[in-house]
Amino acid sequence: MTQQVIDINLARLMETIQQSAIIGELPNGGLSRLSLTDEDKKMRDLFLKWLQECGLETRFDDFGNMYGRKKGRNNKLAPVLIGSHLDTQPKGGRYDGVLGVLGALEVIRTIDDLGIETDRPIEIVNFTNEEGARFQPAMLGSGAMAEVFNKQNVQNTKDQKGVIFEEELERIGYKGLKENRQQKPFCFLELHIEQGPVLEDQQKSLGLVMGIQGMTWLEATVTGSTSHTGTTPMNRRKDAVLLASKLISKIYSMAEEIPNLLVAVGRIQASPNVINTVSDQVVFSIDIRHPDNHIRERYEKLLKESLSMMTLVEEMELQIKDLDRIGTDYFSKEIIDVMEKATEKHGFSYMKMLSGAGHDAKYMNRIAPTAMLFIPSVNGLSHCEEEFSERADIVKGVQVLYDSVLALANKETL
Ligand SMILES: [Zn+2]
Repeated sequence: MTQQVIDINLARLMETIQQSAIIGELPNGGLSRLSLTDEDKKMRDLFLKWLQECGLETRFDDFGNMYGRKKGRNNKLAPVLIGSHLDTQPKGGRYDGVLGVLGALEVIRTIDDLGIETDRPIEIVNFTNEEGARFQPAMLGSGAMAEVFNKQNVQNTKDQKGVIFEEELERIGYKGLKENRQQKPFCFLELHIEQGPVLEDQQKSLGLVMGIQGMTWLEATVTGSTSHTGTTPMNRRKDAVLLASKLISKIYSMAEEIPNLLVAVGRIQASPNVINTVSDQVVFSIDIRHPDNHIRERYEKLLKESLSMMTLVEEMELQIKDLDRIGTDYFSKEIIDVMEKATEKHGFSYMKMLSGAGHDAKYMNRIAPTAMLFIPSVNGLSHCEEEFSERADIVKGVQVLYDSVLALANKETL
């Protein structure tokens, strides 16, 4: 038998999301709340007030990550950490990140409503600059806390106008102490919108996220030679664009043979890029993604061999440079089991999946057992004003977050 009992207060949560949605609001319902701007400060101030109204102990660390701590029965135990980010893209939606933070707040409010005590403390976190829209890299606050990024580099990062991260953090009043970082949580759990169409296509309300899909970024340079387009016969040319177009077709046709492989040539530059000159050089990017690291690496190897052969036949040159390579990160099976039990208890439809996008959970996974929970994005849209999630899915996501947090906060080990 399944139970459809809902503990969380959806009306209160939606009202809280609505209050967030007016700070940096855009004409078509979206949000512009770039990290460490005046809008971000205003949102942080309101969030801090909400944390304090719940009686949580609040603090922020040296990267501006904000925390609210609810005590447990044994405060020597490591806390269950939940949250996401309140910053947005320049033209973002009202749910991306926000749902994970304000959903976590609703979990705490519900625990208070029902007078529940847990063994472990529970902490909420709002990570600084997840989006990477103002300061690069993305997921800066979580990555810095997990010590993936060098502290000095993070502090000195500048936005496009040359404004320094650390100065902005000080200006808005959220530069805290290093001791305030939460580097040893018992576990981390992040609720987020999917930002893609898979859950909607599969007609599932929840995605239990097993990890973050790895990727390989390459840059190919094809070199031929320039000549006059009006005077050089076709058989005398070394046209880099012609060869590049054949290579790019090959990249896609080889990928079609492999289930679940994603590949894209997203950036392309011919030179001299002139109408009446045969191009002597084309530089293009190759983005390769697959859940299985071995399959991704095997495709890359076969692709490189194949492209080299094709180039040899045309008597031109090809260089392929590695730009970036990140393996698939797998989340904690134990936390996924906890979420699965909660989901099944309520009879909510769900599937297990990988995340195609990066999230704060990626870096938290380096320092603590971590997992994520997705709810559907209507039409798979995100990072745009049209981004939307249904109330019916929001309630399920936050309810499963609530049940999972309670279970985890009473667990001795994972
Ligand atoms: Zn996000």
